[in-house]
Amino acid sequence: MSIANQLESNFSAQRSWSLRRQLGIPNNKKLWVCACMDERLPVDEALGIHSDDGDAHVFRNAGGLITDDAIRSAMLTCQFFGTEEIVVLNHTECGMMSSTGEELVAILEERGIGLDGAGIDPTLPELELPAGALARWIRTFDDVDEICRQQVAHLRNHPLIPSHVKISGWVWEVENRRLRPAGERLSQRVNTKEEMGTTHVGHHETLGAA
Ligand SMILES: [Zn+2]
Repeated sequence: MSIANQLESNFSAQRSWSLRRQLGIPNNKKLWVCACMDERLPVDEALGIHSDDGDAHVFRNAGGLITDDAIRSAMLTCQFFGTEEIVVLNHTECGMMSSTGEELVAILEERGIGLDGAGIDPTLPELELPAGALARWIRTFDDVDEICRQQVAHLRNHPLIPSHVKISGWVWEVENRRLRPAGERLSQRVNTKEEMGTTHVGHHETLGAA
């Protein structure tokens, strides 16, 4: 390849990268990820992607929850930027399971922080939280598998998210750096005879019938 051709090829790649949104080029995996902000959740490792090299749009917040801004971002990437798949990524030992919203609000009040009329978007003051809604807005939760399933359902049922978009929910186990589908707690099926019993018998029956 001539130098000129090589340079043209390099520039073409640079152009495609730099002008992706203008040219309507989606991210490499046509993927939007909603993940918790926790420092122990390595999104790229968990999903086997390279988001820093253009593989996905990654949205992170406390809990990895489908909030108003998550809906806004998901809508934009799916409706206008070519995204065709969504992955919700929650994780074990999430800080959002360490208190209730009411407890956190009580602490804020103890600190003398005025909570009445708290705005949630500086550019949309009309989105003021109604009285007593702050605890729910913080959105703590009790069960990571259950909350993961709920986020998938919120997206699946939202009119701004196209029905053809594939949506799945996964839980990153910080204690062993593994990913599981929401609800598939393998670690609860391996520790006692009782846990193993049903699976073991079922396995043999299946083998015997084969
Ligand atoms: Zn978390």
